[in-house]
Amino acid sequence: MLLRQRENKMWDELIGQEFSVKALTQAASDAKSSLTGKVLPGFSQAWLITGPPGSGRSTAARLFAATLQCEQDGCGKCVSCISVNNSTHPDVKVITPQGLSYGIDDTKDLVREAAMLPGLGQWNIIILEDADRLTTEAGNALLKAIEEPAKLTVWILCAPSSKDVLITIKSRCRIISLRTPPADEIAELLIKRDGIDKAMAHFASHASLGHVGRAKLLATDEQVRDRRSLVLQVPFELKDLPNCFAAAQKLVDAATEDADIATDEMDEKELSNLMRAYGEGAEGVTKRKIEKLASSAKKELEEGQKKRYKRITRDRLDLTLQELAAFYRDVLVLQSGAQLDLFHSEMKGSIQRFADSSSINSTIKRLDAVEATRRMLNSEAAPLLVMESMTVQLARA
Ligand SMILES: [Zn+2]
Repeated sequence: MLLRQRENKMWDELIGQEFSVKALTQAASDAKSSLTGKVLPGFSQAWLITGPPGSGRSTAARLFAATLQCEQDGCGKCVSCISVNNSTHPDVKVITPQGLSYGIDDTKDLVREAAMLPGLGQWNIIILEDADRLTTEAGNALLKAIEEPAKLTVWILCAPSSKDVLITIKSRCRIISLRTPPADEIAELLIKRDGIDKAMAHFASHASLGHVGRAKLLATDEQVRDRRSLVLQVPFELKDLPNCFAAAQKLVDAATEDADIATDEMDEKELSNLMRAYGEGAEGVTKRKIEKLASSAKKELEEGQKKRYKRITRDRLDLTLQELAAFYRDVLVLQSGAQLDLFHSEMKGSIQRFADSSSINSTIKRLDAVEATRRMLNSEAAPLLVMESMTVQLARA
């Protein structure tokens, strides 16, 4: 069945993914038929959306959920579409693992949620972001619910790539693979949607390494641009060992500071919500009584916050490493004479000087060192040690 031309622009937010958009809108249309008893091949109750960070996994999951709940083809204007897009639809739950992993305790509520019928919408939809963080036990606990979902439940899992997801889970899902959106299309989105001027949009779309959300931040936030400049100075600073240690410290400090900024406000708000739930501010309840009642919930909250802080710090460091990898990749492009766009084109002059003063061989070793560091960051190793080991390797390559 051919879908009629969509009049709305809801899916325009997901750029550079025409193939996936077609598959998902078709699936939503087939889902509608399945509600009337007609089973069409495009629909499944378990989906896995994969794609590199910033390619739009969460956006794709949300738009798909909205299209499933919409009475039409995902009009973008009805109450269902709007409430899914505002994250207020009661039958669309978005689960975002907070820590480095998502354990079996976290899945209990989820299994219960998955067994429920929708209250308002057509489907009970569960979006599980970062499904690659599921532990084996948690994956096994979810397996049955995904394999034999309740009649009106739809699972939408998201992960960087299908090989990051437990094989048992993956084999039950229909897979949608997003690609890194082309820089030109990101630039166009920034110009059209956010009113950013052409030169800035062009710079930000390349500097973002294909990450749409980051492109907007780079275009609109001077502090984010400064942070990127600080990272990209590092290759030039690694002249001796003391400088290597100093550079590693600088990168870790920057990541922790970013994590502080990202979490402080959230932490505070969560704590005050919790205390209010336990009666803070109500008449006739003493502070001591509330502290006592809330103590175990408070401890649990703080543990969750600690996990989240650790994950955000590591995510920031990973971004730093991607930027460094892109720098050495740009060096390699210039050294090899390949006709490709640079990610960090605004610093072409200094990248050229770096390329002239080093060999292709050492650039490849440096790229390997950065990639190895990215893998090590996923372990429990202390970030500072991992970064120091990298800066020393970069200097010696
Ligand atoms: Zn709608």
